[in-house]
Amino acid sequence: MEKVIILGSGPAGLTCAIYLARADISPLLIQGMQPGGQLTITTEVENFPGFPEGIMGPELMDRMRRQAEKFGARIVYDNASKVNLEEKPFKVYLENEEKWLETHSIIIATGASARFLGLDEEKELMGHGVSACATCDGFFFKGKEIAVVGGGDTAVEEATFLTKFASRVYLIHRRDKLRASKAMQDKAFSNSKISFVWDSVVERILGNKKTGVEGVVLKNVKTGEKSTLNIQGLFIAIGHNPNTEIFKGQIEMDEGGYIITKEGTKTSREGVFAAGDVQDKKYRQAITAAGSGCMAALDCQHYLEGLGLV
Ligand code: FAD
Ligand code: NAP
Repeated sequence: MEKVIILGSGPAGLTCAIYLARADISPLLIQGMQPGGQLTITTEVENFPGFPEGIMGPELMDRMRRQAEKFGARIVYDNASKVNLEEKPFKVYLENEEKWLETHSIIIATGASARFLGLDEEKELMGHGVSACATCDGFFFKGKEIAVVGGGDTAVEEATFLTKFASRVYLIHRRDKLRASKAMQDKAFSNSKISFVWDSVVERILGNKKTGVEGVVLKNVKTGEKSTLNIQGLFIAIGHNPNTEIFKGQIEMDEGGYIITKEGTKTSREGVFAAGDVQDKKYRQAITAAGSGCMAALDCQHYLEGLGLV
């Protein structure tokens, strides 16, 4: 019987593990299919405090893992395939084990996944001109011509934000009307650095790891006409999916599938806590994920104290 199982090894899960291990609670962390989380698919992280020269995403996550292990966190290299939160003790099923694990409490830190277009080049050029996070990577595109794909609030907000750095931002949208709020649209329409490319989808991304992004091949969905747009950066902003499939129907979520937390990191189920992007569709940063991981650890510790288990 475990005292606590943490699901996820991104900044939220590993920060939880550091705190709970230092409190002598010996947490068990199941790291999932993407050990280290989203930051392992990026290059340099320049906005995580404590690294004035920046740090590569995978190295930052490796350091967090080592820090958690140093204090006694146990890490399982598997994925949770199913959970049963209906009765206590909770059960966590693993993909590669026939037996399930039992636990007094759970911290869900399974993150969110950016939606991508599904082009082969997207993966290859991620961190080499392709990004899904303007706050994180905008700074690298000072004076450059770049594009944002999408027509929702995120795309329009990111396009507007990116005009602080880029000389021109093309907003590529598959329709001729934005989905974004009127206020956000007005702001973008009045920004002379944003050009709109309507009724268009990205068919190919040009460039390679050495040169970075050099352009995109666009297709007009109304006329079928193809064209090339020369740009040096491409931001994909077509939404995110929280990784909450296995919890559906067992805890409260909003209409987008994000876990609803209250009084800190408590979910609708006593003894189950959530931290990081899985419960945050607004900030989505490594430091906020780590911060809420710390909160979840303290909330969970308090819960276990109440049960007389620590
Ligand atoms: P994630 O990092 O998403 O980690 C989720 C974890 O849950 C993963 O380990 C996954 O394997 C695990 N998991 C999922 N399902 C299961 C399951 N069923 N069982 C067990 N485990 C599971 N933020 C910044 O602050 N600065 C940056 O420069 C920056 N750059 C970014 C660049 C890119 C390309 C991307 C995509 C994001 C970037 N971000 C950046 C955002 C940042 O990465 C996220 O906000 C942060 O990683 C969220 O942390 P998290 O722990 O909540 O979740
Ligand atoms: P979203 O509202 O779902 O918008 C996604 C956009 O991407 C849509 O314009 C959609 O086109 C387009 N898209 C989806 N799949 C695509 C594909 N495969 N190829 C090309 N385009 C594609 O997502 P979001 O903008 O991330 O917003 C998510 C939620 O967060 C929303 O509720 C939003 O209001 C909120 N949000 C709020 C703020 C704020 O208030 N400051 C900021 C950001 C986000 P279609 O329009 O044709 O469907």
